[in-house]
Amino acid sequence: MWPDIEVEREPVKEGARGVGILERMQLDPVTQEPRPRRVLPVDPGTHGGRLTREQKQAISAASLSEPKPPWLKIKLPGGGRFAETAAVVREHGLHTICEEGHCPNMGECWGRGTATFQILGDTCTRACRYCNVATGIPGTEPDPLEPGKLANAVHKMGIRHAVVTSVDRDELPDKGATQFAKTIHAIRRRSPGTSIEVLVPDFMGLEEEGLRIVMDARPDVYAHNTETVPRLYRRIRPKGDYQRAMWCLQRAKEMSRELEWAEPVLTKTGLIAGMGETLDELREVLVDLRERGVDVVTIGQYLRPSVRHLPVDRYVTPEEFDDLAEYGMSLGFGSVFAGPLVRSSYKAEEQRRAAQDPTLGKMLSEPPRVSDADLATVGEVPAWKA
Ligand code: SF4
Repeated sequence: MWPDIEVEREPVKEGARGVGILERMQLDPVTQEPRPRRVLPVDPGTHGGRLTREQKQAISAASLSEPKPPWLKIKLPGGGRFAETAAVVREHGLHTICEEGHCPNMGECWGRGTATFQILGDTCTRACRYCNVATGIPGTEPDPLEPGKLANAVHKMGIRHAVVTSVDRDELPDKGATQFAKTIHAIRRRSPGTSIEVLVPDFMGLEEEGLRIVMDARPDVYAHNTETVPRLYRRIRPKGDYQRAMWCLQRAKEMSRELEWAEPVLTKTGLIAGMGETLDELREVLVDLRERGVDVVTIGQYLRPSVRHLPVDRYVTPEEFDDLAEYGMSLGFGSVFAGPLVRSSYKAEEQRRAAQDPTLGKMLSEPPRVSDADLATVGEVPAWKA
């Protein structure tokens, strides 16, 4: 029997039939050299043609650490106003989707003194396969002090365009809508010159009432993320519903007209690419969104937060993102920000301005110029918590 050395697992393509993993590597007892790697093919007779749990884990681990394409460059955290932003977030006991979602743009956004606040806690009642936010039933009432604390943070940071999102709270009688409304009112009282964008859930089961509670508080931008194409909803966003997302976006604008706003609300949605959809499917979604009067769209690359999450299907190239943005603009959106690191709240103030003046769109969506010394490839820097 040869002695085992460190276990090394790595997926290896095994023809067209499936995937094998490396078995334990062993030392030659004479030379003490590792034996050549042996590949264990999947045995359809034993596993019914399916991968074992260990095999899936091995494949997941390898795909998470695989090299990223060179265009996925991020700004290293720490410069500019990063420390100040982190201090305000901590001091007020707030959550941000920047941290919870392991957003790769934290270096840039926090360095500029902006962040996207996440209300209603840090635990979500949904379990979308691409999302890094913790899942469960929080079982706690919304914090009555949260709107005031968030408003104070916005004021202290001098934010001109505040973006507020939340976890889904399907277990609450109002699905969390009232906390959004209170937060909008609190920010407006404390910082009357600040525009407010809310990125809200679909309030499943209370759609119309929840939406009305939010719209009565008059946010400047109503956002609800579509995330993916209809074909993938059941698999990766099981509690979501594509048609419901479309309904929310259309209804928000209708409601602002019914409430006789001076201008109908600006509506906005985000899409994630690289989760198994085709570019044609993304184009079809853009058509659906435009038909519902959506003004602003963001499209960004899916990055897998951990081995427990959906693997990346592919990395969409910057040229493909450009084509999607161009196609979207040809449909008549006010603004389409599309790029590998674009996120729904990335440069949210610029997105709004671009929608109001579409000639600015391309310029405002460009990433900032930073020196190579400040850049790292996604994956070189582990997801950080400030
Ligand atoms: S893109 Fe949005 S979520 Fe990401 S760091 Fe910037 S503000 Fe936060």
